[in-house]
Amino acid sequence: MAFTRKPWAEPYKIKVVEPLKMTTREHREVKIKESGYNTFLLRSEDVYIDLLTDSGTNAMSDYQWAGMMLGDEAYAGSKNFYFLEENVQKYYNYKYVVPTHQGRGAEHLISQALIKKGDYVPGNMYFTTTRQHQELAGGTFVDVIIDEAHNPSVELPFKGNVDLNKFQALIDKVGAEKIPYITVGATVNMAGGQPVSMANIKDVHDLAHKYNIRVILDATRVTENAYFIQQREEGYKDKSIEAILREFCSYTDGATVSGKKDVYTNIGGFVAINDPDVFDELRNMVVVYEGLHTYGGLAGRDMEAMARGIEEMVKQENIEFRVKQVQYLGDLLIEAGIPIVQPVGGHAVFLDARKFYEHLPQTQYPAQALAADLYIESGVRSMERGIVSAGRNKETGEENKPRLELVRLTIPRRVYTQSHLDVVAYSVIELYKHREKATGLKMVYEPAYLRFFQARFERL
Ligand SMILES: *Cc1c(COP(=O)(O)O)cnc(C)c1O
Repeated sequence: MAFTRKPWAEPYKIKVVEPLKMTTREHREVKIKESGYNTFLLRSEDVYIDLLTDSGTNAMSDYQWAGMMLGDEAYAGSKNFYFLEENVQKYYNYKYVVPTHQGRGAEHLISQALIKKGDYVPGNMYFTTTRQHQELAGGTFVDVIIDEAHNPSVELPFKGNVDLNKFQALIDKVGAEKIPYITVGATVNMAGGQPVSMANIKDVHDLAHKYNIRVILDATRVTENAYFIQQREEGYKDKSIEAILREFCSYTDGATVSGKKDVYTNIGGFVAINDPDVFDELRNMVVVYEGLHTYGGLAGRDMEAMARGIEEMVKQENIEFRVKQVQYLGDLLIEAGIPIVQPVGGHAVFLDARKFYEHLPQTQYPAQALAADLYIESGVRSMERGIVSAGRNKETGEENKPRLELVRLTIPRRVYTQSHLDVVAYSVIELYKHREKATGLKMVYEPAYLRFFQARFERL
């Protein structure tokens, strides 16, 4: 084989293996029908390559597993908590830390602590659980991301940026006292893992603070964001991920984190804050909803795995491999002419289902159908990120109709090799060849909250 470029490989070797099971097309046709054409309702044992999510599906390192044996399972004052607290302070640069069982636990606490009924919470595109908790706390989410983020084919280095004019317009319209904070997601999951620039977070900080509005970072994927800043933003080429991360967080007042993403764990999260009064409120509430403030719904060993995962996530070779592996899958698909969101983001490749299934109207759930068809074709599990995920308008009850109608192929960290991604690309390309045969779906069961998780469909 002649190399067209210098080869690169996974920055780890494999110590434990988990066998994969291949299934037949007939088997998968039965299983997806039984699952209401919703990939969330499939059993994992019926899946071959699982790209549903990168949430909690990471492979932990030997360093993290060794730490699991050092779990201090004391009800109060576990030493693993203090180690976690120390690493959050050191790497994320916040003063106070409250552990939670996962990201949405942190979102629940911060939403309840800061939002009053009738408030508005701006954000750079919604995230499902974040917005849900803001609404349950009586707030109204307002999207202030730049317009380009809603267009899958516009190539911009920082497609997750906040549009400062939109933010200012909201302040002028409802008044700063009705805006407890702005949520900045970095990277922006729903926009395809798109990053926010250092310049932008600084501007957001300045504008928000001028009006006494807090900036709360969704730092779940902030290491991927730091890597994009290093690669793309003027002046950061020679800075370490660690330094970029600390600077980025310094422009915000607090953060919610799901440890199940960048931190390489299977469970866990935390909320971090600089204001001692807000910390007091968070610490009071965590006892009601999660557990004592030194464990927050986690075992000591889980906190140890998170603390160690934080040290690993900022290592250049780890984050570089992570983002490049995603890019690798994206490049294979781009070369084959498959419509995907560009540029490729930090954690996933997003198929543009509007273009893929051009003949299906959005009311027939093209992305939902595409995710089901890809599973039937290959046993690869993906996820809908379109009209089903967008849910309904809180006031009118109408379906939100997002411009982005996507299928997410999410890469778990350190789990699959490049060969697995070759198989995934091949399967998508095969499906694309006979795309005009695809049929749409109708929804036959719809849950009240976060409907995409449990909704059921039938073929039209
Ligand atoms: C996964 C995720 C969350 C929610 O975290 P969970 O641990 O799943 O509750 C919040 N924000 C972003 C950006 C995420 O990717």
